[in-house]
Amino acid sequence: MKYALVTGGSRGIGKAICIKLASDGFYVLINYRSNKTEAEHTLAEIKNNGGDGELMQFDVSSSEEVRSVLGKWMEANTDKHIEVLVNNAGITKDNLMVFMSDDEWNTVINTNQHSFFFVTKQLLQNMIVKKNGKIINIVSLSGQKGQPGQVNYAATKGAIIAATKSLAQEVGKKKVTVNAVAPGFIKTDMTSQMDENMLKSLIPLNRFGEPEEVAEVVAFLASGKASYITGEVISVNGGMYS
Ligand code: NAP
Repeated sequence: MKYALVTGGSRGIGKAICIKLASDGFYVLINYRSNKTEAEHTLAEIKNNGGDGELMQFDVSSSEEVRSVLGKWMEANTDKHIEVLVNNAGITKDNLMVFMSDDEWNTVINTNQHSFFFVTKQLLQNMIVKKNGKIINIVSLSGQKGQPGQVNYAATKGAIIAATKSLAQEVGKKKVTVNAVAPGFIKTDMTSQMDENMLKSLIPLNRFGEPEEVAEVVAFLASGKASYITGEVISVNGGMYS
């Protein structure tokens, strides 16, 4: 059995990634922060499709919670190896920088950026020792081209792109790959307040993307088919930016 951990697997892109990885044969650890009901729906859909997994509740922005929950799971399951990590959990708190509060800045940095360090660090040593690991970071178009109103969010996604490239160079010799997937506008709760009809004119493919279209790329990077790809950022943005 192959094991994968997906952070923020209860909803949106993370949910689609959990379902796709399970259909590819992974036992999926579905992380979520507070929305247990939605996380249970993800697991139920996996099981209905003949797959398997379990829920794992922790706040990715808390090093203590990551250590106690994920760390304890690892201690109790030394015979199992989490070979795929998808750092997907993320939030926005948009505001023009001139009006941005310390809380809007800190919460987004903690959730989107510090989480990468906490969760990846927890799994990295095993991946290196086993010479088997695939780390996939969900970043964003905002982190590639910048976006007004998202100085905090874009800063985190740009940082994770740089971290992806750096870590890829650290661990390549140990057969651990590190890549990023950068979605544009994808139909999830995060974009539900946006006006697709107005914004689609900015998108060459003339529509928002579906979470499943991001999950396909993640599943490719998590598979043996992507064995010679590392340090890359793959855009899934309908042609908005490359
Ligand atoms: P979403 O629908 O709002 O779902 C967010 C997920 O992250 C939920 O499962 C949520 O768990 C989880 N989460 C949030 N904070 C967490 C925390 N502190 N600890 C653990 N889990 C946490 O978002 P989405 O649109 O699917 O976005 C997923 C990723 O794609 C994010 O990194 C986002 O930045 C990136 N992205 C999205 C878009 C887009 O257009 N949607 C575009 C570019 C990049 P609960 O359900 O428990 O709250």
